[in-house]
Amino acid sequence: MAFNKKQKTAAEYVEAILRGDRILLGRAITLVESKKAEHQKLAQEIIEKCLPRSGNSIRIGITGSPGVGKSSFIETFGTYLIEKQKRRPAVLAIDPSSQVSRGSILGDKMRMEKLSTNDHAFIRPSPAGTSLGGVAAKTRETMLLCEAAGFDTILIETVGVGQSEVAVHGMVDFFLLLLLPGAGDELQGIKRGIVEMADLIAINKADGERTALAKSARKDYAQALHLFPPKESGWTPKAVTCSALQKDGIENIWKLILDFQKQINESGWFKNNRQQQAKNWFYDLLEQGLKRLFFTKKEIAEKLQSVENEVLEGRLAASKAANGLLELFTNKPPF
Ligand code: GDP
Repeated sequence: MAFNKKQKTAAEYVEAILRGDRILLGRAITLVESKKAEHQKLAQEIIEKCLPRSGNSIRIGITGSPGVGKSSFIETFGTYLIEKQKRRPAVLAIDPSSQVSRGSILGDKMRMEKLSTNDHAFIRPSPAGTSLGGVAAKTRETMLLCEAAGFDTILIETVGVGQSEVAVHGMVDFFLLLLLPGAGDELQGIKRGIVEMADLIAINKADGERTALAKSARKDYAQALHLFPPKESGWTPKAVTCSALQKDGIENIWKLILDFQKQINESGWFKNNRQQQAKNWFYDLLEQGLKRLFFTKKEIAEKLQSVENEVLEGRLAASKAANGLLELFTNKPPF
């Protein structure tokens, strides 16, 4: 850059975000994702000021194995929400593989061509991070900023093959699992636990010659869902078919999400769940912070390798080694 633009103040960022300024929203998210201490300080100030204006949205997690049609679905669904429901969707992603593959989800903007150029939508690729926990924390904070900027439907995409969907489940109200017609979930790399987390299973690509297959898959899943224990939310998960390509079944999915929202608002679960999620988040951050403090403390970093070697060689018991380092960290015996 030819000259260094003066960094804006937190108040300036907040004012712009609340006005719905997407450029400054994007820059604030870059601060959230930055590892620089001064950026983090500013980001935290912005988040704190935006917090009272956040939360007013429906948060939807979307998962499914690569190729199931997540991007296509979000493109169609997001466009439907804008055009027919006057909603403002923000699309975020949690993709722990993105450090390796340079952003396999949402990285390629062409995948949501229409949505990414729509003024009423906001799309942000997965942040690069060192750990799933780190990436998830950034996504949570990003979500709050998007809500403060007036985005009322948050879509968080993740690949349904690892731990990331557990993290997403912990930050959304509604969890949508996309599956393909004709292949069992094990074959699609989807674990039973993920099927169990779903509030809605949508068999995508229910078009052309796959229509019949999709319908029978839907029936099978509808039956299988009945065998799972009832959900804490009181909601009975459903199975439907859709086609992101033909734009079929999209309205029905939105209708089900609204039914869900109505039900959990009335039962009080919506508020309880958000509180519980905030509490879990708080404790996660404490744990992450403690770990960071521990491993970056000079005295610990200096001794860690040699203590590890002693454990490896069997000269020191793991418990004694751990207690010794904790004592060094706190300056007092751990018990
Ligand atoms: P993702 O990896 O889960 O994000 O999947 P994509 O959205 O990139 O889709 C993978 C492929 O499936 C692309 O070639 C899409 O055009 C295709 N696809 C997605 N949705 C549908 C659908 O509803 N019907 C059909 N026939 N193809 C689809």
